[in-house]
Amino acid sequence: DNEVNIISGALEFSRKTVKDIMTKIEDVFMIDYNEHLDFETMTEIMRRGYTRIPVYEADRDNIVALLNIRDLALIDPDDKISLKTICQFYQHHLLFVFDDHPLDQMLSDFRQGHSHMAIVRCVNCEGEGDPYYQNIGVVTLEDVIEEIIQSEIIDE
Ligand code: ADP
Repeated sequence: DNEVNIISGALEFSRKTVKDIMTKIEDVFMIDYNEHLDFETMTEIMRRGYTRIPVYEADRDNIVALLNIRDLALIDPDDKISLKTICQFYQHHLLFVFDDHPLDQMLSDFRQGHSHMAIVRCVNCEGEGDPYYQNIGVVTLEDVIEEIIQSEIIDE
């Protein structure tokens, strides 16, 4: 019956991790910290339509900031202001979690309200060198909510 389904859905939810629901890093739309907000860049950002955009410096592996689409509301493309300036002004909280972070924990992190996107990373021990952090995806509140809703509907 319905209560049983909701409870089993919630248990299923707690067993899953951010890795199971994240958007893979290669599919994430990001921008370069040193990019200028000219007409071309602004158009591309609007065309993609994302609310939150990770900002990297030099290399896509090196995420240093988060841009919120609202930050661009008063920007004039003719000023060609640098993204760096915007990021330094707003300094949105950048949340990192490990790939085995449980979904119930992720939900409560998002509910703290500092950020509604987290960068998912793992420790890469492959190869000769020292282990290093590797970003493997992003997860948003939307992904977590979608998972809750699915897990409550599936057994119906
Ligand atoms: P938005 O508000 O931008 O539509 P949501 O938080 O509602 O984003 O998430 C919708 C989906 O898009 C989720 O699966 C999320 O992982 C993904 N997503 C969010 N931001 C980005 C981004 N910058 N690049 C790629 N995928 C993203």
